[in-house]
Formats: sequence, C-alpha cells, structure tokens
Amino acid sequence: MTIVRYAPSPTGRLHLGNARPALLNWFFAKRHGGRYVLRMDDTDLARSTRESADGIEADLAWFGVKPDLLVRQSERTALYDAARDALIASGRLYPCYETEDELSRRRARARAMGRPPLYDRAALKLTAEDRARLEAEGRKPHWRFKLDGRPVHFDDLIKGGQTVNTASMSDPVLVREDGSYLYTLPSVVDDIDLGITHVIRGEDHVSNTGTQIEIFEALGGSVPLFAHHNLLTDAEGQGFSKRLGSLSLSDLREQGYEAIAVAIMATLTGTSLPIQPYASLDEIASMLDFLSISLGPARFDPAELDGLNARILHTMSYETAAPRLAALGIEGEALWLLLRENLTKFADIVEWSKLVTGPVTPVIADEDREFVSTARQLLPAEPWSDATWGEWTNALKAATGRKGKALFLPLRMALTGRHDGPELKNLLVLVGRRACLDRLL
Ligand code: GLU
Repeated sequence: MTIVRYAPSPTGRLHLGNARPALLNWFFAKRHGGRYVLRMDDTDLARSTRESADGIEADLAWFGVKPDLLVRQSERTALYDAARDALIASGRLYPCYETEDELSRRRARARAMGRPPLYDRAALKLTAEDRARLEAEGRKPHWRFKLDGRPVHFDDLIKGGQTVNTASMSDPVLVREDGSYLYTLPSVVDDIDLGITHVIRGEDHVSNTGTQIEIFEALGGSVPLFAHHNLLTDAEGQGFSKRLGSLSLSDLREQGYEAIAVAIMATLTGTSLPIQPYASLDEIASMLDFLSISLGPARFDPAELDGLNARILHTMSYETAAPRLAALGIEGEALWLLLRENLTKFADIVEWSKLVTGPVTPVIADEDREFVSTARQLLPAEPWSDATWGEWTNALKAATGRKGKALFLPLRMALTGRHDGPELKNLLVLVGRRACLDRLL
C-alpha cells in the first residue's frame, strides 16, 4: 500500500510553491490507489497556529484534496520522547551544553583556521562529572544526533542516484534546550509510525535526507523511497516565501482564479507536460510521473496563469458552470455558451451577462444615427432564429450600401455599448426584439 504525506509547518498560509509538494503527493497517491496523510509539522509552538493549520486544510479542500488522515505533531510528543530515549540508550543522541555564543565563536575560529565550521563534538568528551557540574550551574542540554560520517546513498525517484556525505555535516540538534523537538526527529518518527512509503518533497531537503536515513536506520525503521522535486520560483528565479504571503493560495482564490488553473501551474511548471486546460486533478495525476519533472528550475509566469485561467473558462461546460452561475443569479445555457469566451475570471460573467439582460447604454455616433435608425426599421419580425442576423444585415446592406466594419461596428456599439464582445448573431437572439428596439434608439 502506497502511503504519502504532505507535511507543512502551520506558520502561515500556503503559497503557490507549497501547492507543488501538496499536489504532487496527491497525484502520486491517486495513481497508486494509495493513502494521503496531511501532517501538521507544528512542533515549533511559538510559530505554529491553529488558524494557519485550518487555513491549510481549507487551501487543500479548494483543490479538492481530501486527506485520508490528519495528524498534528504537537499531539504526538510521546512517540518522539520514546524515540529520543531509544537514541540516547544506543548512544546516538548526546547532550551538549554549549551556548549559541560559544558555538558561534568556535565556528568563527574554525573558519579563521581554514577549517569547515563543523561542530567539533566537544560534548562527547564530557565526563559524568563535567555534565553534573554544568547542570549544577543551571545549564540545560540540547541533544545532538551522532552522525555516522559516511556517504549515504539513495536513489531519488526524480533526481536519480544521490549521495550525501554526513562526514561534511555537523551532528544535527534534534532536541532543543527546552526539550522541544526540531523538525528532523519527529519527521522520521512519524514517517516510520505512519508507514510512509514515499517521501515527496522539495529538493531543498536533499541534504536532510542523508541525516534522516541515518536516523531511520538508528531507529530500526524501514527507509521510505524519496522523490525530491524542483522548487517553484518567480520569474526572477526567487523562491516563494510563505511568510511574505506572496501569491498565497487564499489570495489567488480571492482574486477569482480557478483552483484547477492554480493546480496546473503549481505542478506542471518545470515539467515536460504542456500547460493547458485539464479537466481534473485526476487527469493530471494520470499523466504526470516523476520522470516528467525537470531537473532545472520551475519558473512561474503570472501571465501564463492568466492565460490558462481564461482558456479553462472558454471551454467550461454549462453543466460545470451552472451551479456557480446560479449563485450569481444567472442562468441559461445559451447565455453561458455565448459569453464564456470573453471571460478571464468567472465573475466577469456578471458584467457580460448585462449585454443580454440589460441595462446597456447604447453608443451611437452622430454620423451613424440615420444608419442605426434604418437598422431599427428593418429589424425582422419575430420569431427569431439563427438566421435572423443574416436576414437583417443583408437587408441593411442592400438599403444603405454599407458593408464590413462600417456596417457591423455601429450595430455592435448600439446593441452592446462597446466595440468588442460576443458574436452578435447569437447575442441578437438572446436579447430579443423588444430590447433590441430599445437599444437601437
Ligand atoms: N515541514 C517540512 C517543510 O515544510 C516538511 C518537509 C518534509 O516533507 O519532510 O519543509
């Protein structure tokens, strides 16, 4: 059974870049009939909020992502405590008493001597008496994981073979002085406990993976498969920042973008698949595999989102649109089919539908007054059909000698008050004779 997890830290709203791992995990679960766990990485109590966690759930629901399971790390401390104790017992987790100040002085000294600023493991040399003395001074330990210091190899499902040499890394702090956990240990403990088979996340976690594989092994857990995807950047190649709220999903939703358009941009940018309207997440899921994800950067272009959003609306079926139209007090399949290709956002339909239902302020230039008045007189009798427009404009052409733009533009300006918009042939029938007569005055 495939089990994946999306593991955001609930410290703000999700942005477009976060949607990428959220959805890539979802697609993978769909393709393999697997389970999708939403894991709130909320061990940082100072920065995590319930409001943010609820917002993340709402953002995922907007896409139609329904996790099979939701877990909050803040409620799972007992598991982490047990893992911590096991690592202490096996000698892999050791107490350190250095202050931040001492550590930064040591790093500076190492740099000055041309050595990499790695933690020197001084704490490993402390005797029981040393520790007792430090604790008597009121110092509290933080805990570091003793790395094996060997090359850790894994076959990344996107990036191919990866080697992280933990010899070039400082032993990571897993437990803070106040006993709280940093991200690394709870993540591994949960991945083991929840039976995660595939860890799909941004490539900024590749070096973490080296450490985490060592922790999986130290805890006797089975190591999942990893897939690290390229990160979404803005046009200048800058990463998105959750804290800045740049392009948050909730902003995009409020700006009226279609969830599917945002999902397509978030996941297919920086892949070999074309950015084009897809009907559903399931359809994307069935096409997007790891090998389609490029190794280069994934640059997001806002203009492409606008274009895609419009294309999705231009082909949206009435069946899909109808409930949303009803919520706006608009109905009618013919109206939708006539107007949809003018939309850039769904809500634009409110303004466009006024071309059918009115009120319209006709625009009639002085030099066209006589022409428009002739047009009014020649307006065919009802019933109207698809053929009415042709009958009317042919008669008008014969009567006035006008053709092309000189014939059509004044009619458009009078009937709609604007020089662009939907096809007049179909609009005419929807507006009906009575209202047309009014607009041709
Ligand atoms: N909370 C981590 C993050 O947001 C999760 C990383 C992971 O998927 O392991 O970066």
